Amino acid sequence: MELAIIETQDGLEAWRRGSPPSARLAFVPTMGALHAGHISLVESAKKHASHVMVSIFVNPTQFGPNEDFEKYPRTLEADLALLNEAGVSAVFVPPVSCIYPQGFATNISVGKLGSRWCGAARPGHFDGVATVVARLFGLVKPDVAVFGEKDFQQLAIIKRMALDLALGVEIIGAPIMREEDGLAMSSRNRYLVEKERAIAPAMHAILQQLSAQLSTLGEQADTQAIQAMLEAAKNDLFKAGFSKVDYLALVDAESLEPLESLKSPARLLAAAWLGTTRLIDNIEVM
Ligand code: AMP
Repeated sequence: MELAIIETQDGLEAWRRGSPPSARLAFVPTMGALHAGHISLVESAKKHASHVMVSIFVNPTQFGPNEDFEKYPRTLEADLALLNEAGVSAVFVPPVSCIYPQGFATNISVGKLGSRWCGAARPGHFDGVATVVARLFGLVKPDVAVFGEKDFQQLAIIKRMALDLALGVEIIGAPIMREEDGLAMSSRNRYLVEKERAIAPAMHAILQQLSAQLSTLGEQADTQAIQAMLEAAKNDLFKAGFSKVDYLALVDAESLEPLESLKSPARLLAAAWLGTTRLIDNIEVM
């Protein structure tokens, strides 16, 4: 079936009317500039539903005033070709006026879960994300939605919001897709100049090593040992060539609160800069 391209709320409703009433819809929200990481979410979505809809919307409200909203990569033609090839049923490509019509006034506040880590470096970011995702859910009315573990804090926040607001959408997390050298795929990787691109995989390597060290120590890892390991890993990021480290933390994988001893489920989260590009990554700690 050919990929349906939908731009309006009416278009969504007409498309839904044309689908069999028994059809289950899985939804994959994106900001476009699609890569194999996004397509892996589509593959995961297919396992949960008969139809998959992807949205492409670069949401202005989740970018800070000095962030990259204007220069965020927009590659619609290539994105549509990839989605067609991936067997997606429909793509929703709304203009800003469809998502934020005149008079739009509601803003979801995600509270504590959104104030640490990326939220500390990007004030208001997760409120913007939660608000646009809630609005997209309202428009698209999916049964399930798939989000990448690449944005681990975002996934935790969306899961929490779907429960708290009883949105009736099942939230599914999908594993991080990586380049061969370990770099987590990201639309922003294309900002990296050659020298930065060569340094970038060090983030995954350092997280992998730290995760293995922590697992080996297990419950013997006390607060001091954990702090020392986190500091050493941060230094390794600087030594590798990262110019600034926003955070490198061991957290509870659900509450995202820092862990002072190793408890399951645990996750290492990191954000660091290469020149003007901010990279994030994370890894499970067994
Ligand atoms: P974005 O277009 O960057 O807003 O991402 C849209 C969705 O794709 C989010 O749920 C991301 O977590 C997910 N995603 C981005 N990069 C990857 C990746 N490398 N592996 C898996 N999922 C990803």
